[in-house]
Amino acid sequence: MAAHAVLVSGPGLGHINGCMPLAKSLLSTPSFSHITIVCFARSYHTHLTKGHLSNLSHPSVRLEIVPDELPLDTTTSYSQLFATTPAMHDNLVLLLKRFHEEHRPATCLISDMIMAWTQSVADEMGIPRVEYWTASATSYLCLVSIPHLMSKGFVCSHKGPEPLGWKTEKKIELDCIPGLPRFPLEEVPRELRYAESTKGPVVEKFVIAAHNAHRATCVLIHSAFHLEPHAFHGLSHIGITPYPIGPLLHQSLDATSPLDPTILTWLDSHATSSVIYVSFGSNSKLSEQELVELALGLEASRHPFLLVVREDATIEGRHLKELLPLDYFSRIDQQGLIVPWAPQCALLAHHAIGGFLSHCGWNSTMESLWMGVPILACPRAAEQPINCRLIVEDWGVGIELQTTQEGTFSKHDVNVGVTTLLVGEAGHLARRKAKEFSKKLREAPMEGGHSHSSLLNFASNILK
Ligand code: UDP
Repeated sequence: MAAHAVLVSGPGLGHINGCMPLAKSLLSTPSFSHITIVCFARSYHTHLTKGHLSNLSHPSVRLEIVPDELPLDTTTSYSQLFATTPAMHDNLVLLLKRFHEEHRPATCLISDMIMAWTQSVADEMGIPRVEYWTASATSYLCLVSIPHLMSKGFVCSHKGPEPLGWKTEKKIELDCIPGLPRFPLEEVPRELRYAESTKGPVVEKFVIAAHNAHRATCVLIHSAFHLEPHAFHGLSHIGITPYPIGPLLHQSLDATSPLDPTILTWLDSHATSSVIYVSFGSNSKLSEQELVELALGLEASRHPFLLVVREDATIEGRHLKELLPLDYFSRIDQQGLIVPWAPQCALLAHHAIGGFLSHCGWNSTMESLWMGVPILACPRAAEQPINCRLIVEDWGVGIELQTTQEGTFSKHDVNVGVTTLLVGEAGHLARRKAKEFSKKLREAPMEGGHSHSSLLNFASNILK
């Protein structure tokens, strides 16, 4: 009998947007006949206008918005990501019971590592739980290794003395994660290393999430095996069954809105590979100082730029218009276009885009490489430094924006980085590599590709 998978979306746009492509992919296998996507009310309403779920229309996919009693909030710090209430647990159990009564019981529960608490719901209902990780296998390996790093003294989950290497992490290479040749300690997010440095019990939550990752039946990872073979081997080595099933961009591109006429006309007026596209994703913030340096550096490069500045782009809260000299906008006139949001995939697919100055979110990374666009990497937080290393060192599809010890950049750094990526030798090499990558990446989830076979294996194994 074909099965019913219940996919519980994690908080944050990346998680929400990852649900529909996964649902469609599962339905393309012989194992699944219908999917329910569960989105908790806060996440859904926060991302309503930007999330792909808002235009959900598939005959075999249903959307359930589950009340969570959480306040609406657009910020997604680690502690807010983990926010849970008893209502979330109880309402999810009630929903699964309802499916049972309606003779369409859930065969498995698929949820993010951040929603590790759903393990107890799956246990209560006697169904397997599968994790769905919408970022790299390397970052997943790093997070599930947190209890191990704790036993070695690099992570401290309670108030007390600093963990090992707290101030000297730049010099420490970890060799304690099996399967990975090297792992710089500085890539383990600092908020997850020391209880003293966080506002809530974040370290503790990740320790629990890491333990629950081992209790899950397996993990579906939105990456391709050839991108990170070491990390996939490492996960198997520590007893986790990973299925690389991505990237699933062929399943989401049709849901992407087209470019609006202003952007399209502007892009059409520029030569092939001449424009730098700049975006820091859906929730990364810059300081006001950084935003100003960014805007001035882009202008100084004299290259055309398309800059996304969200309403909530800065930590301090003032908008770009209040921060820049009055004549800035007339000065950049034809050179630059600044917008609050843009359909990124459609934009990256335009021939005029020659590079992407990115915070290295995993979705942005996959989208850029799928389109063959090289990256000027400017990681900010979370797992972005890991992605930056993959982009620059492992794959050679980008270069890193120079920053100070504190991680900030100047107008000069931006000018140099953009110019190097668009017209320098290093940028030329990265562009060539990105184009090669695009071909291989697009093959992975298609019939005959590794990610496609991996998805089919998962679908048949989960029903056994
Ligand atoms: N995005 C977009 N338009 C923008 C900025 C972002 O469509 O102006 C989308 C982008 O295509 C990607 C997602 O938002 O799918 C950002 O996800 P990512 O993992 O890169 O970063 P996050 O927002 O999770 O930090």
